[in-house]
Amino acid sequence: MDFFSITSGSSGNCICAGDDSTHVMIDAGISGKRIEAGLNTYDYTTADMAGLLVTHEHSDHVAGLGVIARKYHTPIYATAGTIRAIRSMKSLGAIDDTLFHVIRPDEDFVLGSLTIHPFRISHDAADPVAYRIENTKSKVAVCTDLGYYDGYIVDNLTGLDAMLLEANHDIHMLEVGSYPYPLKQRILGNYGHLSNETSGKLLSSVLHDNIKHVFLGHLSHENNYPDLAYETVRLEVTMDKTTPYDAKDFSISVALRSEVSERIVI
Ligand SMILES: [Zn+2]
Ligand SMILES: [Zn+2]
Repeated sequence: MDFFSITSGSSGNCICAGDDSTHVMIDAGISGKRIEAGLNTYDYTTADMAGLLVTHEHSDHVAGLGVIARKYHTPIYATAGTIRAIRSMKSLGAIDDTLFHVIRPDEDFVLGSLTIHPFRISHDAADPVAYRIENTKSKVAVCTDLGYYDGYIVDNLTGLDAMLLEANHDIHMLEVGSYPYPLKQRILGNYGHLSNETSGKLLSSVLHDNIKHVFLGHLSHENNYPDLAYETVRLEVTMDKTTPYDAKDFSISVALRSEVSERIVI
């Protein structure tokens, strides 16, 4: 399989994963033009995508969805609650009803050579999910926009070859920053986003000998820096003495808002 981020962050998300016969996009939170340019980086085009898997209806995940649907007729997979929310968003324009496919958390579905496993996340959206994507050889996951994690999330991220995991904010930067108090509470709450520290703890609990790469993603523009996310997550992994792992044992990088990431081939 291969796996890369076109853009990741609080202002837009679009990730691509697939294998020789099937590719999917996870979220379309930037313009259709930027998505196409990002896919072209690795010689793909939007028309190659067997489906668009939507995590939830926030605009940083769906801003380009209307254009993708109208121009490429890409089938859209999302929970019933997310589809309802998307269809009520006038800003996305008209979308052909027949493109929507309802999925349910914990029910696998197949797209070509890929098996897709959606799983629940705790976030302030209608019915949000994260996705695990696998073929007969490899497994990857995209897990962002969650206020906290528990054993269910750990189970869903166990045994992966690669993942993109949220490291949204530095708690101190958020606390002293310019965001209004209710927004700070929302981000820090159980329906918000994972901090760098919590991301490191979650990562530490799912590391294993054969993990090939970890992308840290969905960084806040206001309340994080790529270097800070990277160092904090690595420190958490290294400090966790309940596991034999050290951050230097693994390949970790930050998926940026402004640049297409490296392409991981597993
Ligand atoms: Zn969100
Ligand atoms: Zn988001």
